[in-house]
Amino acid sequence: MRGSLTGMPLDVSRLPLVGGHPALDLVNTRERGAPPDGHDFLTDASALLLWSARAGLVSEEEADRVGPVWRDDPAAAHAALAAVREVREGLHLVLLAAIQPDGRGPGDPVVAGAALVGLHERWAGAAARATLVLDRGDPPRVRLTYGTVPAMLVPDRVAEAALDVLRTADLTRVRRCPVAEGGCGWLFLDQSRNGSRRWCRMADCGTTAKARRLTERRRATRTGTP
Ligand SMILES: [Zn+2]
Repeated sequence: MRGSLTGMPLDVSRLPLVGGHPALDLVNTRERGAPPDGHDFLTDASALLLWSARAGLVSEEEADRVGPVWRDDPAAAHAALAAVREVREGLHLVLLAAIQPDGRGPGDPVVAGAALVGLHERWAGAAARATLVLDRGDPPRVRLTYGTVPAMLVPDRVAEAALDVLRTADLTRVRRCPVAEGGCGWLFLDQSRNGSRRWCRMADCGTTAKARRLTERRRATRTGTP
């Protein structure tokens, strides 16, 4: 069902954040089952801004600054949304290739290589707009702060998050909620101690898949088919 994970229509204000990293939650702003091109929860710039604040990529105060800028300049808002969608789809392809190194499944290494070129371009643009800020705390640190241009703040933070997950996360812990077994195809970081998490959310995907298997077994028993 379009726009639904549990039978109830969802909008971006209630979209579960189960990725364990904002960049994985970004990938999960689109339905990822079969067929792979499902409903896009980032329907417009305002949905993007709402999601960015929920995911912690921008503060409420930053979102309040970006909103009027996008309202006054719809072309800039459209460009920002297009940039975020491009980063999202590129990141999805790279992660699929990374977690399926045997080349099986939807992760194609050549496609992933092209996606990395696109991600690098987006990140380079974001880095060009970033600033170095001296934080005189204890200990003092120099921080690289992305998002100095309000119209591009959201796509720049998204590019930063995408690079962060690719470069610093343990990619052996990135899992895909198993589509073949009734899961939704969303990606998440498995932070369980023994690395055994299989479902994006047991309460939804895991339970739904279990119920479906039970129904199929009962049907098979009734009709006598194995
Ligand atoms: Zn799932």
